[in-house]
Parts: sequence; C-alpha cells; structure tokens
Amino acid sequence: MAPSRRRPRVSRSASPSNDDVLRPHQRRKSSRGNHSLSELAKDICLFRKRVLFITGAGISVASGVRPFRGSSGVWTTTIWTNATRDAFRKDPLKWYNDFWLPNLSLPQNVQSNAAHEALHKVLQRYPTTLSVITQNVDGLHPPSNRLIEAHGRIGLFKCMPDEDSDTDSDDDDDDERLVHLGHRRKRRLAMKKQACLYQQKESLNVHQVEPARVRDVLDTGRGSISEPPKCPSCNNALAPQALLFDEGYHSHDFYQFQKMEEWLAKAEVIVFVGTSFAVRLPEIALEHARAEHIPVYNFNTQDMLEATVRLNATNVKGPSEELLPRLLLEIQELETTLGIIPPGVAAKVKEAPAEGTQPPSSLRSQQVTNVSSPATTNASRSSSLRAIRVKS
Ligand SMILES: [Zn+2]
Repeated sequence: MAPSRRRPRVSRSASPSNDDVLRPHQRRKSSRGNHSLSELAKDICLFRKRVLFITGAGISVASGVRPFRGSSGVWTTTIWTNATRDAFRKDPLKWYNDFWLPNLSLPQNVQSNAAHEALHKVLQRYPTTLSVITQNVDGLHPPSNRLIEAHGRIGLFKCMPDEDSDTDSDDDDDDERLVHLGHRRKRRLAMKKQACLYQQKESLNVHQVEPARVRDVLDTGRGSISEPPKCPSCNNALAPQALLFDEGYHSHDFYQFQKMEEWLAKAEVIVFVGTSFAVRLPEIALEHARAEHIPVYNFNTQDMLEATVRLNATNVKGPSEELLPRLLLEIQELETTLGIIPPGVAAKVKEAPAEGTQPPSSLRSQQVTNVSSPATTNASRSSSLRAIRVKS
C-alpha cells in the first residue's frame, strides 16, 4: 500500500496493438484471436522463460471486491492519512471502527474468479519458472509457494510494536542488488531485538485474536468493537496484516521482500494484470524492466502502457477474467500441438503413476525439483478469509 513518488508514463488512449509495432517478426496466428497471448504462451511453455506476474485490483473486480482507485474505488484522501502506524497508534479502537472496518473489509462470501483460477493453473503447470506477486490483500489467489501477497492479507493480524526500528529512510548498506524493495540491514538489526514473534515473523488468524467478543466482530464484520484486538503473546494492540504507508516491506516476514527482489531480478518477462501502475511495486518493476530491457505485458482494461525505446511494452486490453483463461487455453493448445508435458504435470505423473503406465517419452523437462504445493503458511486461509466482512 506504499504510495508512489511519481507516475510512470501511461496513457489511457494508447492502442493495444503496440505490440504489432514492436515485434512484427514474432507474429503467429492464434486460434484464440490474440497473437500477444500466443507469444506469451510460447515464452512460458516452449522457451521456459522466467515469467513474473504482478497482479492488482483489476483481477478481483469480477469477484466483487472494490478497487482502491477508479470511480467506485475506496481510495480517498483519508486512506493516505489513516492507513499508517501513526494513525493506528493514536487510537487503535477508533482506527478500527471509523476507518478499517467500514472501508477495508471484504464482501460477503467473496470467492476467487476465473482469472485467479486460470493463473493458478498456469502456475501449477510451470512451477519452477513462473511466479506471482499480488498487490491485493483480499486473499483470493489460491495458495502457492510461488505466490507472494506483497501488501498483506485481510483476515490476518500482526502485533504493532510500540516504536519503529525499521521505517526510517536511510539507504541500505548492501546495494549490489538489481532491485531494492526493502532494507536488508534494517531487517537484520530489527531481528536482533527480542521483539514479539508476531511483530516481525508470524501472523495471527482471527481465531487467535483476544478477547473473544472482539474476535467475533472481526470475524463477521458486523457491528463495532469495544476494545482493540490484543496480541495473545504480549498484549499489544493487533493491527491487520497489511502493509501500511509508513511501513517498509522489510518490516514483516509476511511480505517476503527478499524473495520478491530475487523474482524481479531474475524475471525474463513481467506480466502486469489489472494494476494501475500508481503504487511503488509496479513502479519499481517497470523501472527495472526499462533498465534491464525486460519485455512487459499489460493485461488491463485501462492504464495502457506506452511502448518506448526503453520499454518493450505489449498491452493486451480486456478484463483479466477473460484474458487469463485465454492464456491458459493458448498454453494448453501449444502443449498439445508440440507434445509438451508441462513440468508440473510431469512431476505429478512421476509422483503417482497410474497402474501400468509410465511417464510419456516426450517428457521435455526432467529438471523439476520444486513443485508448487499449498504453502503451510497459508493453512489458516480458509478461516481467515471469513475474518472481516464489508459493508461495501
Ligand atoms: Zn505481540
């Protein structure tokens, strides 16, 4: 939720056919009618490129989750001043009742949509080369160890420290990295202190919140709370597990900033899905793409990117719940045409071969070691998803 310092060059009127200008030699007619998707499918399943997907609010609109921005967004001037540690510490009870609960809860029975599901299936097929970073806190992406929820997850909680040791703006002291999302030095220093486990390392689900009557309100989203939720370990007030504007990615292990930096640094293609490019993460990713000449795709209904000499941008215009299932179909079609068994599927065949069958000889990948499996850290997801309901 960190704000941007400046906006990249984007145009709402740019044509989605920029890619025709950029890469005419790569055109291939696609049965799905969009050669950009077929090119991306080739990158994923034929060339096995490391593709990083960065998703934003647009992917959850079809699930009924209000975006922060746009005409129906909840992004107002009040969010900039309220979604901070400072505001929380002044009066945690008022903060929950006046700001968080009315604005940042999820709709009743919110569920993943076709975009989340299709992206998850793509991820499962190529688990060693694909990864997803979401800016969304709605918890709608299916669990995977190739997914990072960079801004937290509604329904989980963290312990709020009494004072900050990790949010000042000093430069990092080890800046050999291609991408900087957090401060390693501050992280190390913070970890030396004997802080409560839930301040920096672990998250709590709603059922661990004290006292019970507060837990019930947070779980149903109805009514208001009579006192702030309390940490069962140290009795401090609990804040939602969401990255506040005056916090850094290094402030809590949940945000996995070093893994995000690694994924960005190694990415050969970056695909933005439903993001407005107006917050820090996509801004940094775009700047990295420019600096390292990494091709980017932009699945979006608005906020088209301008292709420039420095930025190889391909806009694919449309809602993500249509585009991502089409990408999955493109990939499956290519696999069938070329006889490719995706590594995620091949690994499953190896794990549990059906009686009397052997893995097909056309198996193209033998290097699979890290098959995506439901992350244990997400074990509390189903209950946490029910945690906060909204009046939207
Ligand atoms: Zn605590």
